Amino acid sequence: MEMKYVPTTCPYCGTGCGFNLVVKDGKVVDTAPWHRAPVNQGKTCAKGNYAAEFVNSPDRLTTPLIKKDGKFVEASWDEAYALIASKFKAYKPEEMACLASARVSNEENYLMQKFARAVLKTPHMDHCARLCHASTVAGLAAVFGSGAMTNSIEDIAEAKCVFVIGSNTFEQHPLIGRRIMMARLNGAKVIVADPRFTPTAKQADLYLPFFSGTDVALMNGIMQYIIKNGWEDKEFIAKRTKDFDKLKEVVMQDTYSLENVAKVTGLHAEDIATAAEWIAKADSSALLYSMGITQHTVGVDNVKTTANLQMITGNLGKRGAGVCALRGQNNVQGACDMGCLPNVYSGYQAVINADLHKKMEDAWGCDIAEGKVGYTVTKMINVLADEPGTLKCLYVMGENPMISDPDLHHVEKGLKNLEFMVVQDIFLTETAELADVVLPGSCYAERDGTQTNTERRVQLWRKAQDAPGQAKPDWQIICELGAAMGYEKQFAFKSAEEIFNEVAKVTPSYGGMTYARLGAEGLHWPCPTAEHPGTPVLHKEKFGTPDGLGILSPIEWKPPAEVPDAEYPLLLTTGRCMWHWHTGTMTRRSESLEREEPTGWVEMNPEDAKALGIKDKEMVRAISRRGEITIGARVTKDIKKGVVFMPFHFKECAANVLTNNALDPIASIPEYKACSVRIEKIPEAQ
Ligand code: SF4
Repeated sequence: MEMKYVPTTCPYCGTGCGFNLVVKDGKVVDTAPWHRAPVNQGKTCAKGNYAAEFVNSPDRLTTPLIKKDGKFVEASWDEAYALIASKFKAYKPEEMACLASARVSNEENYLMQKFARAVLKTPHMDHCARLCHASTVAGLAAVFGSGAMTNSIEDIAEAKCVFVIGSNTFEQHPLIGRRIMMARLNGAKVIVADPRFTPTAKQADLYLPFFSGTDVALMNGIMQYIIKNGWEDKEFIAKRTKDFDKLKEVVMQDTYSLENVAKVTGLHAEDIATAAEWIAKADSSALLYSMGITQHTVGVDNVKTTANLQMITGNLGKRGAGVCALRGQNNVQGACDMGCLPNVYSGYQAVINADLHKKMEDAWGCDIAEGKVGYTVTKMINVLADEPGTLKCLYVMGENPMISDPDLHHVEKGLKNLEFMVVQDIFLTETAELADVVLPGSCYAERDGTQTNTERRVQLWRKAQDAPGQAKPDWQIICELGAAMGYEKQFAFKSAEEIFNEVAKVTPSYGGMTYARLGAEGLHWPCPTAEHPGTPVLHKEKFGTPDGLGILSPIEWKPPAEVPDAEYPLLLTTGRCMWHWHTGTMTRRSESLEREEPTGWVEMNPEDAKALGIKDKEMVRAISRRGEITIGARVTKDIKKGVVFMPFHFKECAANVLTNNALDPIASIPEYKACSVRIEKIPEAQ
């Protein structure tokens, strides 16, 4: 028997914990602590702990599949490549689109956008960051000149105040939650604003149970109270920011007085005042947010408002402070960094900039897609559903829009309008079932590569076992498909490291990185030169804006696109639970995790449940303007009256049948966090 331990990085959340994969006779059998892992020092949450369980699931895809007469039949790689190449060559560039993945490596994401732009010549390139943190990328880039978490995970523990808004950190980024507790043990005050009394809220010194969708009102109210009391950081505002007067014109209006904000948010005025005082008077205050802030039609406004609050209190450019946007999936930061977005090449280099367009053509040695902004994921689905024949062909790598996207009936209609779809994944997902060709990729344990966590730390994956059957690393599949399309030279990579070296060559923020330098610790971007140590804290001396100043943005509060009414009287907010990950593709094939939480539920307040005659665990009907599902009720005081919550992992009671695909006008992110529903008792269940 041969045993070995292979240190690698977790495939679930954006915290980027490291652990060892335990390999017995060439097969991954377990995980074990990697005590020197830089982010988590050997600790993991349950998902990380059981991250070996799905790797050798009997459901893994092991051979290419081609749909014939409505049924999948096994095929050779040559057959699959020949079919795909002949189809791809038959469409015009504008008729094709590609979706990359927040689950695969930087190298694979880089190659996917290169394939879209250099081979298919299409500008339509996006991925699921559109659905979680597109507002962060757009909002923070606009005001700071960089659309990423400003500080490191480690330095959250040094904060003297931690304000968590729209993040259930203890369940969704547990090893970042650990840093919040370290800060609290060091004397920090912890404030949590959330409509649910989550495990994170339960650890707070001050809990603010506000209505989903009132974030701007709350933060404007906090800022007004700070400014009224003269607690703003006048020196920081004067030296490092601009447009404070414009900000004051909005936030000092009577609309944002404590009393008025209390009415809109459903909070007590004195609690808002306490939060303002703690944030303003702390030596350093870190603001943490996640999808409770971003997944709104005002997602970009929400993000800019977090930046306003941190700028007027001088909480940027130093340790224990910052705007800490907690990215969801393991490599959603990296997929954005690699240019898997419709408006930028890797390193956020704008596709509409003629010099950068030429730079990429020179680097890749071929003509590439014209320099215009392509479709977002959400636009792709709308075009497919509502303008049939415009977009005809889709290549999807490691994404599952049939569970993850809002208004699933609309998504299904759109995907069924495609003439040809290729899905590359490790399991036959709900989306793969609709594909014409399915290509078996590899999971994190089966190839080398890098991923970039929420704090911009680029870390290595290390191969622990071979992929099952004929499955291959995703980078190898893209290279072989590139060659089948006549682009052998552009895709002549023999290893993930060779791809990474090209990434470093064309991407300024990764310019000084090599596999050797990443080593065990990784490096935080920007790391532009071979000598540069990386940048754990951004904006220390100046912001990345053209004049180096942070931009304060005057933002008025606007209600969600859909608000409760007589027909749909409850506000639905969706999210994750601690045992499962996104569309459940991996966690629902992990026996230990599935046992803990085998299906979904709707969480409702006892007063709402009583009014409807609904008891705990009773099956109910949840209905929105877009569809209905049957789901078990979970009656709990841990949710605000008038609000219901559902996790979105479970296909048998998919919350996204109900959600609204109303979009933020700048980031095109859907409003997952607020739509109107009604809950009905099922007569048969009485
Ligand atoms: Fe994995 Fe996130 Fe859990 Fe860390 S906190 S073990 S990265 S799921």
